[in-house]
Amino acid sequence: MTRAPIEIIGGGLAGSEAAFQLAERGHDVVLHEMRPVRGTAAHKTARLAELVCSNTFKSTEITNAHGLLKAEMRLLGSMILRAADEARVAAGSALGVDRDVFSARVHEWVTSHPRITVVRDEVTALPEVGIVATGPLTSDALAESIRQRLGVDGLAFYDAIAPIVSRDSIDDGIVFRASRYGKETMEGAGDEGAYLNCPFSRDEYDAFLDALGSADQFTAHEFDAVPYFEGCMPVEEIARRGRDTLRFGPMKPVGLTDPRTGREAYAIAQLRMEDRAGNMWNLVGFQTRLRIPEQQRVFRMIPGLANAEFLRFGSIHRNSYLNSPGALAPHLALRDSPTTMFAGQLTGVEGYTESTATGILAAINLSRLLGGDEPVLPPPTTMIGALYRYLREADPKHFQPMNANFGLMDELTERIRDKRLKREKLAERALGEMRRWREAVAGESGAVAAR
Ligand SMILES: Cc1cc2nc3c(=O)[nH]c(=O)nc-3n(C[C@H](O)[C@H](O)[C@H](O)COP(=O)(O)OP(=O)(O)OC[C@H]3O[C@@H](n4cnc5c(N)ncnc54)[C@H](O)[C@@H]3O)c2cc1C
Repeated sequence: MTRAPIEIIGGGLAGSEAAFQLAERGHDVVLHEMRPVRGTAAHKTARLAELVCSNTFKSTEITNAHGLLKAEMRLLGSMILRAADEARVAAGSALGVDRDVFSARVHEWVTSHPRITVVRDEVTALPEVGIVATGPLTSDALAESIRQRLGVDGLAFYDAIAPIVSRDSIDDGIVFRASRYGKETMEGAGDEGAYLNCPFSRDEYDAFLDALGSADQFTAHEFDAVPYFEGCMPVEEIARRGRDTLRFGPMKPVGLTDPRTGREAYAIAQLRMEDRAGNMWNLVGFQTRLRIPEQQRVFRMIPGLANAEFLRFGSIHRNSYLNSPGALAPHLALRDSPTTMFAGQLTGVEGYTESTATGILAAINLSRLLGGDEPVLPPPTTMIGALYRYLREADPKHFQPMNANFGLMDELTERIRDKRLKREKLAERALGEMRRWREAVAGESGAVAAR
């Protein structure tokens, strides 16, 4: 019996990669892209895999989380990275590309593939066998279908992201662990309390407020204007409402006694654990539109965070994304229809490279499912596996999109103080594990790289 072609919705980074990977595995694919029939507010061309903003896929060094992610994707034969290599421009250790050459390459390879048919239309319903990769600007009609299937909590239209810092960069001489009035609890918090608390003196608070008020902000494109509601108000916007507004809001000190002074501080910034291992801590209520260098400068003024290592920066964006831990199966499919899969930024990963990586995994797993095999995921000792663990295990109540970072990965068994050496070891382990995974379960030899 001949099988109907696989439907892929969205010809961006994830959808193009997934279409190509499936076609290379012998599947017939129809790739639906709505441009130019219907545009988005950010894309400017009709090409597949258009880069909407920056022209870089970030670092190539494996001691950098994005570099490691790319090295793993190369082991899995990423077509998008091969196109990026061919379009590379001088950008130091970053993989910068000529965006036109890049998307022209992807366009050519996908549209000329004998097993891929590209159809220009807006899809408004979920496929039974296919991959939805419609990105942060998913069309309204399809978003509505997703919401009907997953419920209103299943899909968000904006993200309001607070920065995350690594645990080992927080100064334990200043910060103390406690829950407000000893009452707030969370799984695994124990008697010591759920939060890390950064206590401010009055002078420290005043200086912080001044810096926050004068810091340089990202100015949004018009389409990216976010209607602020209380849950996603930028911290700098709250500060602008009055000098005490933060102190009576997200920075209130009540119910938290600083063990060093035996008193309540003038204000408190709280950090909440982001991952079960406790490597990543989220600055509660500090969603922000400050530019990245300004986030580093201003948030390092918080007592105890002078040397903070930022694993994720804050942002506020127009962004359609699924509540993956609350709504999807671990291989990012509908729980009641394992061959209706999702990939790309829509799944709650953040960034070009992360989105593309989920396109590769979606193709591997859809191909396996159609061949009668179970879906598989790399272990959390790899960067891709660690991202997938985040997508299935993060707290659905606080779920926010995530980029690749070392805080997501399993710790080494040995303790290494030197950061560079530690990352070298983490990367070495990850690449070894990814090779083993590829050979053992995916049986992939890098179809694209071998061409
Ligand atoms: C304004 C903006 C700036 C960004 N800047 C950066 C950046 O600098 N660096 C970075 O790493 N990330 C950036 N991102 C995030 C970036 O969009 C993603 O990382 C990446 O493009 C996601 O890839 P994707 O394949 O999931 O989605 P996309 O690349 O957006 O592809 C989705 C595709 O689906 C199509 N589509 C949507 N709905 C339908 C439908 N119903 N039917 C058919 N087709 C449909 C769209 O036209 C689009 O071509 C930015 C996002 C936005 C919105």
